[in-house]
This record gives sequence, structure tokens and C-alpha cells, in this order.
Amino acid sequence: MKKAVVLLVGALLVGLFMPGANSLYAQAKRLSLATGGVGGVYYPLGGAMAKIWMDRIPGLTVTAESTGASVVNARLVQKGEAELALIQNDIAKYAYDGVEMFTADGALGKLRGMAVLYPEVIQIVTLKETGIKSIADLKGKRVAVGAPGSGTEANARQILELYGFYDASEKKYKDIAPEFLAFAPAAAALKDGKVDAAFLTAGIPTAAVIELAATSNVVILSIEPARAQTLQERWPFYTTFTIPMRTYRGLEEDVPTVSVMAMLMVSADLDQDLVYRMLRALFLPDSLKLLCATHTRGCDIDLRKALDGMSIPLHPGAERFFKGE
Ligand code: GLU
Repeated sequence: MKKAVVLLVGALLVGLFMPGANSLYAQAKRLSLATGGVGGVYYPLGGAMAKIWMDRIPGLTVTAESTGASVVNARLVQKGEAELALIQNDIAKYAYDGVEMFTADGALGKLRGMAVLYPEVIQIVTLKETGIKSIADLKGKRVAVGAPGSGTEANARQILELYGFYDASEKKYKDIAPEFLAFAPAAAALKDGKVDAAFLTAGIPTAAVIELAATSNVVILSIEPARAQTLQERWPFYTTFTIPMRTYRGLEEDVPTVSVMAMLMVSADLDQDLVYRMLRALFLPDSLKLLCATHTRGCDIDLRKALDGMSIPLHPGAERFFKGE
């Protein structure tokens, strides 16, 4: 007890008489960065971002947390349980406006934008032996639609609705058996024949699919341009995207589908100066090199494109950074 008091007094004195130490203490902060499942891209890239920030900003601790991804991440930031998060730009907008899957939550007004990062591709994966060749063939099948609270599951619902496999008014899947699985468990279930197809919305190549393709004959279902257009008209964040052949072992043709954008968001409560410094650190050439080495999609992160597709208001620290102040 006595010892603790002496230490405390000592620490206070150091704080009072050493301005350097004092300001360092004032900066000490622990932040949580909400990412996604371990089989995705958010998790490893989030880990690299945490490292960049801790290496460059004294007194800052950032932990990249594995989560159910976009939809839960929005709620975590709103509740103050995470200060930073990776999220799809479509989901960020629905959350900020309190629409679609956030109708019951109301507008999540604490969300602010930091930077748009890279495209996330809607990948509807099956295996050759299922005989499934199109989305229409999913009728009566077991389909992994994403982790509960993921952006993937939101995309699965919208796409399946277009093909008559989801009833939006009843909020129920129709004529398919949905399984709510994250990427890695979905890939394992496909391999074991426990599901027939799986939705993933993630940067390509996605680790869970690379691993699956190493031992199984992976097929990715197309979203035809006409359907893609209908999707885009209804939910404007979708853009057409072509998965190039050989993205995965055994993929012998280009696959037309749609994509959204991954972005970094932050709580409105986070200090303006800190957000500014975090962005400055993130876009240093060495940091970009590390992000690119962590995952191919990290190579897409580019200052000149960091506001394309930004769907929610910027944090004031980000505004200052992008104005080049
Ligand atoms: N975009 C996905 C989601 O929100 C997560 C992607 C990832 O983990 O890389 O469901």
C-alpha cells in the first residue's frame, strides 16, 4: 500500500515537472479496430494498420479485433465499444441513415469516414460436383449466407431477393436453407458437403477460397449484367466487377459479378488531431508498402482514390488531412 502511494506521488511529480513525459501521458490511448472473420481480408489488413499506428504514434495502442464484420462493426462504433472499424461503404451508409438492416437501431450518428480502401467482391462459391451452375440452381439448396451481422449476409439477402429466394416483407429466406457462417467455416462446410454454396463479400483473392480451391474444384456463380443493373438501380453502391480467371486454382473463366468498396471508419468522438495523425501515418510510403505486402488488396490503398465511394460524412481530422493541411 505504502509503496503504491510512493509510486503514485512519484509518477505525479514526474508528470508535473517533466513536460515531455506529461504530454506523452496525455496521449496514451487504447483503441480497438473492429475487423471481420479470420478467413477474410479485414482481419489481416486491420492487423497491419494497428502495427503502423503503434509504430508511428507514441503512446497509442491499437488492437485489431475479429468480429462478425460490417453490420456489427457499425453497432460497435456507435456504442463506443470500438473506436475504429472496417466496413463496406453500402453498410456504412445504411447504418448512418438508420435504414435497411438498421431500421430498428435508428440512425447510427456517430459513424464518420476516414478513407475508402479497395473493392470487395460478391463471390458466390460452389463446387463442381454440386452441379450448380447459376443462382437459379440454388433452389432447395443449403446456402451459407455469411456470418450473422456481416455485410456479406446483407448482400446475400439483396441478391437472393432478386432471384426470388428472399422475401423482404417477411424478412425470410425462401426455397433455400440459409446457414449463417463466416468465411472459414463456410469454406469448410462446402468442402465437407454440408452446404452447397457460400456467399462471400471480400477483397479477392480471399484466403478462405484460396484454401478451398487447393483441394476442391471451385466454381463461382455469375451475376449477369442485366441482373447487376437491376441490383445497382435498387442499391446504388453495387458496381459491376469481373473476377479474372485464375484468381483461384481451377477458375478457368472470367466471372461477371458485382462489388462494393471497403472503407475505414471512425467514431465522431475520436480526437481530431489523432485521426489526422493516424491518416498521415497510414499513407506514408513505408506503411503502404506494408499494407501491400499483407494482402494484394492492400496495394489498392491510394490517397488519390481514398474519397471515391465515401458514403458517410468525413471525420474533421480526415477532412483536414485530405485538404492537405
Ligand atoms: N465485407 C465483409 C463483411 O462485412 C467482410 C470482409 C472481410 O472480412 O474481409 O461481411
